[in-house]
Amino acid sequence: MQHLTGRASLVDRRPMTFMEKMYIPAIAKGLGITMKHLFKKKVTVSFPEEKRKFSPVFRGLHILNRDEDGRERCTACGLCAVACPAEAITMEAAERKPGEEHLYREEKYAARYEINMLRCIFCGFCEEACPKQAIYLTETFPPSHYQRSGFIYGKDDLLIPDPKHPVETTKTQG
Ligand code: SF4
Ligand code: SF4
Repeated sequence: MQHLTGRASLVDRRPMTFMEKMYIPAIAKGLGITMKHLFKKKVTVSFPEEKRKFSPVFRGLHILNRDEDGRERCTACGLCAVACPAEAITMEAAERKPGEEHLYREEKYAARYEINMLRCIFCGFCEEACPKQAIYLTETFPPSHYQRSGFIYGKDDLLIPDPKHPVETTKTQG
């Protein structure tokens, strides 16, 4: 039969010789390959003691940024949530009250902001969509958890600390 690609190979169906039935040549060949790899440079690392260097384009855990005066930049416009292909972002907007100008940069802010890290594919679309430079992907990655709820990152986990109004985080960032 004529093969279209020319890459097909015929299966050898001849009966096995005595030596082949003993599997000695196959074992010797396998040991040879093992010995060859013993003296080659290791391609594995002993994680977590040893860590690989991240690629310059690595995208990891998100942060919510503040402006130079320590005010939250996010205005809860929802563009990041719309841009997110994994539907990992949810938020609730609130109006800034008089006297809160030192906390929130815009008249509207995110009262609740959550990212489900189990859904996130770390594509960075949220960062690109944000008109306020409020969300960034960093070079860290979410640590492991025993519960699924541990991967839901709320505003307190994402917002960078403000030196004037410190925010306590509830999750350890790895
Ligand atoms: S990095 Fe991508 S998948 Fe993750 S929250 Fe942002 S837009 Fe969604
Ligand atoms: S992070 Fe940026 S895009 Fe997302 S709601 Fe806040 S201001 Fe809008």
